[in-house]
Amino acid sequence: MMQTISILGSTGSIGTQALEVAKKHNIRVIACAAGSNVKLLAKQVKEFNASYACIYDKSKVNELKALLDGTNVQIFSGEEGLNQIARLKGVDKMLNSVVGMVGLVPTLEAINLGTDIALANKETLVTGGELVMSLAKQKGVNIYPVDSEHSAIFQCLQGNSHNEIDKIILTASGGPFFGKTKPDLKDITPAQALNHPNWSMGNKITIDSATLMNKGLEFIEAMRLFDVTPDQIEIVVHRQSVVHSAVQFKDYSVIAQMGVADMKIPIQYALLYPSRLDCPTKPLSLTDIGALSFEKPDIYTFDCLRACITAARLGGTSPAAVNGANEVAVKAFLDGKISFLQIGELVLAALESIESKPADSLETVLRADKAARALTEELIEKINA
Ligand code: MG
Repeated sequence: MMQTISILGSTGSIGTQALEVAKKHNIRVIACAAGSNVKLLAKQVKEFNASYACIYDKSKVNELKALLDGTNVQIFSGEEGLNQIARLKGVDKMLNSVVGMVGLVPTLEAINLGTDIALANKETLVTGGELVMSLAKQKGVNIYPVDSEHSAIFQCLQGNSHNEIDKIILTASGGPFFGKTKPDLKDITPAQALNHPNWSMGNKITIDSATLMNKGLEFIEAMRLFDVTPDQIEIVVHRQSVVHSAVQFKDYSVIAQMGVADMKIPIQYALLYPSRLDCPTKPLSLTDIGALSFEKPDIYTFDCLRACITAARLGGTSPAAVNGANEVAVKAFLDGKISFLQIGELVLAALESIESKPADSLETVLRADKAARALTEELIEKINA
């Protein structure tokens, strides 16, 4: 049975790999949306014969129109364009792999229409997780996690029921600065932080992996997706990225999911669930790897991770606040405006200063996000004054 999907974030690392999976398994791609890479977007739309294209960066819409001249592709742009793609009818699954909070509203739009979601945009569940999960439940919509850890947990849970979970073991590679202390990290440059040992990803998530913000966001994402408490999640540093996460059940049996560090495996599982078919990747050789190691994370050196765990415990709009501050801080770090350690300091400042409210409406969540961004911008200006 041929499946029809739409992809938000088609030119990014997840999007391009998803298209590879779609090609291999004859999945119909009806719409592609990209941030600013208009040339690759036009190429994808033509190659997959998609009916709709969206460019988030509105200044590039004329370029996209020119590139798609002579086709019947309907073109959208900006935030509203993402929502229009999310509201398309006849889509079995929408893959949301945009980066950042901007993914939240389109996710809600697609769920509202009853479209299943393959979710790679972790900020969606971090900021509006309660809203997303309750709307999905109400609409009978399935959310298939794409993040490798959450896909692993989802796979470990197959055939088991939620009330049998004792805890989730969320594995972390530890990032490029594992074992370092704050004095070692004070002069880290963007180029050093962008060099991840195991995974090849976009800039934002690579910096998040270096600060361990990524693991903090994943901690919150896991709480929302699998409806567990912060006490039911243990973060374990596992340098080899072979065990992608595990679940410990009430009988203390632990089921782990393993594989090579290739996002095509979780992407394909989310797109083809529950089928397991040949994947365009390499098999895992345990004897080549030899040994697996597991250690505790250092939440004192990595402020972002500590901030996220605290935000998870506080709940409400606190996760949206730490996420908003981080998005602004990461950009400032990449632009050379702040130091590596200041990312964590700014995230902690937002956690302390922005009052946590119940995350009961989209407006409340967006307000907390906005307040955190404004505070962070202001603090960055002071740093540079
Ligand atoms: Mg991950």
